Amino acid sequence: MSVAVVIPAAGSGKRFGGDLPKQYIVLAGIPVLARTLMAFEQAACVQAIVVAAHPDYAAQVQNMAEQYGISKLCACVPGGTERQHSIVNALAVEAVRACDIVLVHDAVRPFVDEVLINAVVAAARTFGAAIPGLVPKDTIKEVDAANSIVCTHHRAMLRAVQTPQGFRRELLDTAYQRAGAEEFLGTDDASVVERAGHTVHVVDGREENIKITTPVDMKLAELLLAAGQPDF
Ligand code: C5P
Repeated sequence: MSVAVVIPAAGSGKRFGGDLPKQYIVLAGIPVLARTLMAFEQAACVQAIVVAAHPDYAAQVQNMAEQYGISKLCACVPGGTERQHSIVNALAVEAVRACDIVLVHDAVRPFVDEVLINAVVAAARTFGAAIPGLVPKDTIKEVDAANSIVCTHHRAMLRAVQTPQGFRRELLDTAYQRAGAEEFLGTDDASVVERAGHTVHVVDGREENIKITTPVDMKLAELLLAAGQPDF
């Protein structure tokens, strides 16, 4: 069974601030997106990579692929206004349609490793849909519109989820078609698949697989690299 990875990289980085979206920021000499691409280039189970990027950055993505030897990059498609639209554009690419399993991975999680990629792919093959998750360290409360606590969830039953999220391609395709028809917007791919009625399996995530969202995350990323996180 062949595996394609879709990398949504069309975010503007509003929460990060600054003009340059965080996926293009240089982290210890290498752009964040290039680090993410290299992780999938080196993962033996992945055959094809498709990036969704803002058209203004399409040339930059192609240059990055050449500079860092990303031979698996098949296409760079235009991103959409929401992450979900970026994914739908990437799912239409022929190289993705030729694969049985599709992984979706945020451009801004550069510390994904082959062990996690393999675990998600194996579970996606078995269960149809699989994502990495960690038990949250903080206690999670649900609040109402007035910021009063409604309830406290039992932490052991909660998961803070990451990417790569893996799915049988036809299942993901159908779920996104349905979400489009019902104008449903999910914050991750699994929520779209859950809504379509399919059970999603959770495998152990990795603490180092951080999502670079704020300037503090970038500092943490620098520390992880200094501490020996795989550097290319
Ligand atoms: O906005 P958020 O932090 O959830 O973004 C997660 C990933 O989705 C990022 O890699 C971002 O570049 C991407 N994204 C996208 N298209 C959008 C919004 C976000 O590809 N319209």
